Amino acid sequence: MPTPPTSKSAKGARHALRVVALGFACIAACAFGVVSCAEEPAPKSADRIILIVVDTLRRDHVSAYPNAKAKTPSIDHIASTGQTFTNAVSAFHATTMSMASLFTGLTPSIEAGSNRQSVKWNTFVACGMSRFSEDGGKKICIPSSVPTLAEDMKRAGYWTLGVVANELLYRPSGYDRGFDEWVEIGLPGPGEERNIFESSPMRTAKHVNHDLEQALASRPSDHFFLYAHYLDVHDYDLFERDYAKSVEQFDRWLGKMFDMLDANGLLDRATVIITSDHGELLAETYPNQNTGKHFGNPSFQPVLDIPLIVSPATNRPSDQFTRSQDIRGMIQEMAGLPQAVPKELGPDELFISEMFFQTYRDGRWKSQWPRTQGAPHLYDLVNDPGEKSDLAREPSQEHAATLRAHRIRIDELSRQLATHASQAPALSDEDRERLRALGYIETTDDAFGMKSGSKSSDAKSRE
Ligand SMILES: [Zn+2]
Repeated sequence: MPTPPTSKSAKGARHALRVVALGFACIAACAFGVVSCAEEPAPKSADRIILIVVDTLRRDHVSAYPNAKAKTPSIDHIASTGQTFTNAVSAFHATTMSMASLFTGLTPSIEAGSNRQSVKWNTFVACGMSRFSEDGGKKICIPSSVPTLAEDMKRAGYWTLGVVANELLYRPSGYDRGFDEWVEIGLPGPGEERNIFESSPMRTAKHVNHDLEQALASRPSDHFFLYAHYLDVHDYDLFERDYAKSVEQFDRWLGKMFDMLDANGLLDRATVIITSDHGELLAETYPNQNTGKHFGNPSFQPVLDIPLIVSPATNRPSDQFTRSQDIRGMIQEMAGLPQAVPKELGPDELFISEMFFQTYRDGRWKSQWPRTQGAPHLYDLVNDPGEKSDLAREPSQEHAATLRAHRIRIDELSRQLATHASQAPALSDEDRERLRALGYIETTDDAFGMKSGSKSSDAKSRE
């Protein structure tokens, strides 16, 4: 049993009930343009869907999971009233890519047309959706041609509120599309300059909770979709805190937020989803590790394994392989909407299109392929979850066949998920300066010459 909660949030969450689909048949028809919904009455229920994203939260630091390295009673209590997914992974090891995936249900990709071509890093923020964009993803991360989760929810009759503390999600990137109200935490005051590379104590959970409460106080409806994105755990490094302690401290603030919702009766008949956008590397080291922290290259499991807790329970199996892009469909289901997201990957597949590697997983087998030179790596995640034994070094016949099959599939996905390379704009001077400041490029002459080893460890990125 999960640790009993210490906060009042426990009581309210205990009464959480699954969303009741009212009038969704018409809403679904509306979504497909079958009927006009202009005169549909507003939903009469007070159902709510609450999506909490804890930036950089590793699954093994949530005590709803066995042998956790931190205690998280507030999260655990939500888990005790619902379902803990044991096999959830991030679509990518960076905020912009994974959140673009969660919001669209699509696979983020920085493929450029063929598997060995240079990656076109179109701008500082890669969101992996530029293949749908007219401008190659230069200005807007989530192209307007791609429907979003918030638009789904709005169409289903929910009032939509987003409260986000990660600047990479701020306007005009497109993550706000579909939200009736979109609150960006820690914006500079009048006359102050906005600098996304600097940490800010104004972006803590205290401020998220405060602004969230304020926004809810003037809600036009009790029937809402709330998305809150917290940055406290991510900032453990910037504020030189212990990771586990940061998680525990954040959990207390999350408990306060649930207390507030409970006090306002907003946890009744609510569905709560708690997850993260990606994990983090801590003490782990690997022979072929290229970078530290959560930047992947390649993507080992600590940067991919994420918690996923849903209350009340869904009808999906708890061990179902669930990627960031699958969460959109899960929430559509909760709202009674049809799942109309194209399936780009098989149910057991994961494809991570990185700058220096392509990482592919099919069930238990995971391979990592350097883009430019070097041999691939192969891991058996069932027998070797710590990815210590590279089976590609002296492959058996079975392992060699697995590698060949992965290569063929990667080539196929690479073509399928290619960016519109012809539309990829050149780096602007401003982008080039940002990349250099973050350690991505060494000289101004080295166009797209990303330094192998990638981001410097002290880069103050928000990913
Ligand atoms: Zn992140």
